[in-house]
Amino acid sequence: MRLLSATLDRVAPSPTMAMTGRAMALRADGVDVIGLSAGEPDFDTPPHIRAAGIAAIEAGQTRYTAVDGIPELKAAIAEKFRRENGLSYATNQIMVASGGKQVLYNALMATLDPGDEVLIPAPYWVSYPDMVRLGGAEPVILPAPLEQGFKITSAQLEAAITPRTKWLILNSPSNPTGAVYTPEEIAGLADVLRQAPSVWILSDDIYEHLTFGVTFSTIAEIAPDLADRTLTMNGVSKAYAMTGWRIGYAGGPAELIGAMRKVQSQSTSNPCSISQHAALAALTGPQDFLTDWCATFRRRRDLVVDRLNAIPGITCPTPDGAFYVYPDISGLIGRRTAAGTVISSDKDFAMALLEEANVAVVFGAAFGLSPAFRVSYACSEQMLETACDRIARFCAGLSDT
Ligand code: PLP
Repeated sequence: MRLLSATLDRVAPSPTMAMTGRAMALRADGVDVIGLSAGEPDFDTPPHIRAAGIAAIEAGQTRYTAVDGIPELKAAIAEKFRRENGLSYATNQIMVASGGKQVLYNALMATLDPGDEVLIPAPYWVSYPDMVRLGGAEPVILPAPLEQGFKITSAQLEAAITPRTKWLILNSPSNPTGAVYTPEEIAGLADVLRQAPSVWILSDDIYEHLTFGVTFSTIAEIAPDLADRTLTMNGVSKAYAMTGWRIGYAGGPAELIGAMRKVQSQSTSNPCSISQHAALAALTGPQDFLTDWCATFRRRRDLVVDRLNAIPGITCPTPDGAFYVYPDISGLIGRRTAAGTVISSDKDFAMALLEEANVAVVFGAAFGLSPAFRVSYACSEQMLETACDRIARFCAGLSDT
């Protein structure tokens, strides 16, 4: 009898594992590797939020809570959705989970059956396709290349919908491209979805607060008539620099939220009680530091985009949100590095960049759109300058094969 589930055969090992492992090994050998691969802000959790966590411990808030979150936090989430997104949810339409990731997992496990299809625009956040496969369903990838601003079109969506389509996953601002859908673009997608009443919409809004001079919008707000089949997901990880606290949340139809609660009740139970109190302080406390954080991210974005675009063979669009850029490297494929490696793919590029220039990035194939790589600019400007110097030198050393 086999030990491991057949479902697991459908899930690929993380494509970035080899790279992360190699970066760690180089560091252990004393090599000064600059990491541009982190998916988290480099800021500390703001003091008032940390204090709320400490106060929760001192007050004995250290026991099980309701599976779907403490009532105060759920009320604060309902108020956040009302205030920032114009969305109105009753208490039974909201749930808290251990990170945005668990919200997504709950939703997919609660709804997917074998044969179902889930539409995922690429480049995508690495976890979507594998979570869909874990749910026994099929990811259907919709390519959204640079020429389309890394966004899918209404025509593409229309052509991809089949009777088996269960979900469309939208993520704006996007990981890995930073692309942000305009309200008009979302309205265009909504027009198509209106004609496909059995398709559900999962809006991953985790980077909502990290935008640069553009308006964030979410589909349930733009198309309120679709709210009864939309799950609006968000969390405190990125906006409040709380990745380690593990709090995500969602608003959606009561039946779906109830099913997600059931999945959570038989897996992790409630999210960490202490983190829930910290998240409550995040959502109800001052929000003004976000303006400074966005200004900092914007400066770093401009620095990286300018520096990368100055390198022949690299084309780096300027994204409107998140803290990533996704440069195209079509112009470098087929070239040979100073150490003699031929760059046949973006994985070759990223590996050689790590070995020969000691900069760690994530190659585009991991996100389903090549040849490209993802830079996370959640680090100091000085570090970004040094990293860009190294990338420029590495690229200048490439020769024709
Ligand atoms: N969605 C996207 C697009 C992300 O990039 C991430 C984290 O990297 C998540 C969801 C999950 O975030 P968390 O589980 O930390 O809340």
